[in-house]
Amino acid sequence: MIQYKGYGICGESMQPTINRPKPIAPPRSRPLRKGLRFLAIVGAIALSIFLFDRALWPNRYLLAPWVFGDAIYQVQTAEKVVALTFDDGPDPRYTEQIGQILADAGAPSTFFVMGRHVQQHPELVQTLMAQGHELGNHTWSHPSLKTKSPATIRDELESTDQLLRDLGYTQPIPFRSPYGHSWFTLPHVLKQRDQANILWTVQMNDWKPEEPDVMMALLAPKFGNGAIVLMHDGDGESEGADRSNTVTLVQMILDKYLAEGYRFVTVSELLTQGKPIRRWS
Ligand SMILES: [Zn+2]
Repeated sequence: MIQYKGYGICGESMQPTINRPKPIAPPRSRPLRKGLRFLAIVGAIALSIFLFDRALWPNRYLLAPWVFGDAIYQVQTAEKVVALTFDDGPDPRYTEQIGQILADAGAPSTFFVMGRHVQQHPELVQTLMAQGHELGNHTWSHPSLKTKSPATIRDELESTDQLLRDLGYTQPIPFRSPYGHSWFTLPHVLKQRDQANILWTVQMNDWKPEEPDVMMALLAPKFGNGAIVLMHDGDGESEGADRSNTVTLVQMILDKYLAEGYRFVTVSELLTQGKPIRRWS
């Protein structure tokens, strides 16, 4: 049946309106679709985070060396050798004591010192040398190097190296960046210096400071052939940090793992024992 309804504008003739049966409304699936879309988005985000966390970020030094540079976490070796490393010193309260405990156990280690602290306590560097330890460069003033210019980075590294040379250190000086940070400019400078960034297999929360027993439990699952263990004999950010738990921890590590047949060596010695591992695991 045709009905005429209203008038058109501008002289248009009346338009017939056809009375059609009302369409049947589709089932109410909108909330369901919305829910599925939400779940898909959450799932995609979770998957991205998972892939980033497990696959991309741990492999960043392999996947994008032009961004992150060259870094070493561990050494692949069949030998029961481990490198103990100490950052942020020297500190007059702890460095000599830690160095002596290690020397008494026949465990030469690597001390990544800060130039500023070496300048304040040059005698401690000479003590470390006499105890048979290796000296590493941990910059002059401990800045994050992520946003620093190549000129600033060169200055941080070269001034520290030079001071160690002035104090009579003649061995190669490995490098470890503060906080492990490495981003664009540092890789560029390290490449020019033909150096890798020596990172770590496991870090002890001695900077918190954590209790020695807790740190031993933290160490156990990661401890093994070719491991690089990070501890702190000083503080990069402020003076006066308590490192007495580190002293206790060093003795506990030596007691436990020397009895298990492990040998402790410097980082440079460790690197001669096998293939460097550049993937964080
Ligand atoms: Zn540090």
